[in-house]
Amino acid sequence: MVTEDKGSNSARSEARTESPQSEGMPGGRTEDKQSSSSRKSLALAQPSLRRADVADAQWNDWRWQLGHMLTSADELARVVSLSDEERAGLAASAELFRVGITPYYASLMDPDHASCPIRLQAIPRVAEAEIRAEELRDPLGEDSHNPAPSVVHKYPDRVLFLVVDRCGIYCRHCNRRRLVGGDEPPTTAELEAGLDYIAATPRIRDVLLSGGDPLLLSTRRLDHLLGRLRAIPHVETIRIGTRLPVVCPMRIDAELTSALRKHHPLFINTHFNHDKELTPEARAGCERLVDAGIPVGNQTVLLRGVNSSVRSLRALMRGLLRSRVKPYYLFQGDTVIGTDHLRTPVETAMELYRGLRGFMNGMAVPMLVLDAPGGGGKVPIIPSYIEHLDEQRVIVKTYRGTRIEYPQPRERDCTVPYDAVYFAGEPADDDREGSAEVL
Ligand code: SF4
Repeated sequence: MVTEDKGSNSARSEARTESPQSEGMPGGRTEDKQSSSSRKSLALAQPSLRRADVADAQWNDWRWQLGHMLTSADELARVVSLSDEERAGLAASAELFRVGITPYYASLMDPDHASCPIRLQAIPRVAEAEIRAEELRDPLGEDSHNPAPSVVHKYPDRVLFLVVDRCGIYCRHCNRRRLVGGDEPPTTAELEAGLDYIAATPRIRDVLLSGGDPLLLSTRRLDHLLGRLRAIPHVETIRIGTRLPVVCPMRIDAELTSALRKHHPLFINTHFNHDKELTPEARAGCERLVDAGIPVGNQTVLLRGVNSSVRSLRALMRGLLRSRVKPYYLFQGDTVIGTDHLRTPVETAMELYRGLRGFMNGMAVPMLVLDAPGGGGKVPIIPSYIEHLDEQRVIVKTYRGTRIEYPQPRERDCTVPYDAVYFAGEPADDDREGSAEVL
């Protein structure tokens, strides 16, 4: 059973037993009330969530961070000087998308400048209420690829397993805002059904745990879930998508890394969007993961006015590499409702990419992709460096704009004869769309 430790509600109770504060785990409505009232009473006892006013032992406790998320204008006003636009956005947020910011992440905010990239990502603006006709609740078409509850099977050999519905921050650009921040976490039966589907579908080689943020599960419960997946013979790799290294790096503790390292090959993809987020604490958290043998990649979302400059992107990508994190994707913004003000024109994205490629170590250059609206999948939108191509020659334009001719080879048959020997008896890949299983 997935809930040997009695499901997410119980896991949270278990965490509360360990600590008087909420663990920040996904939970049902009852728990949310408990968490909320607990937070309120703590707020009375401790009016300031500023770094300077909080004891180190609490500040460095991830459960404390997640149990004291800032959710209101009053709380945020103690940390930054809120602009009128932010106040209007916060007032409207109940109708838009949940607000929640760890005290740690709030401490990175520039108190005086509303254009601070941390504030732009975390504090809603009233522009979120301006919904365009072409914007979508489900921009990636995930809801039409649900062969089992909590499972999205879109690509042939891999699935998303949505195991929680809460996050350590509610990003204003989130493309899954329809699913996260609610009060209805996946049930035990839904997670079991998801595991059953993965076990019964041999072409699934890779499972990406996401949500919500899977690192909000208690370590014991996450360990158990990873063990269940690892026991499925055809699951070759497991990935975890998490923003906790960015917004709550104290979550990456020794208990977590020793649990994770049991489940290799395991990969983590995190989500830094600005160099300001690469604090010593965040870098140390990433390094603890890498030291546990877990390759860490980063997915950046290109956000207008946040990181949409060559200077900002170069600083971020270089900072990631210094932190032993590989820049993986740079996403053009999705067409999710209420985020038009945060998207960049595609031609701007391509120009920004031109400012990275060739000017930095190639390891620091992520792939620029656009997720095709409606579920078409990721499409590279890297600008072409080819100016002419025929069977004799190719004219390329270098990153410096110089045109250079590349001669084509004379032989054109690229068949690999040994494939027939090496792969003899093995079935060819099943390249059907993931949803083929449910059609
Ligand atoms: S952490 Fe990820 S899933 Fe959660 S709100 Fe941010 S973008 Fe959305």
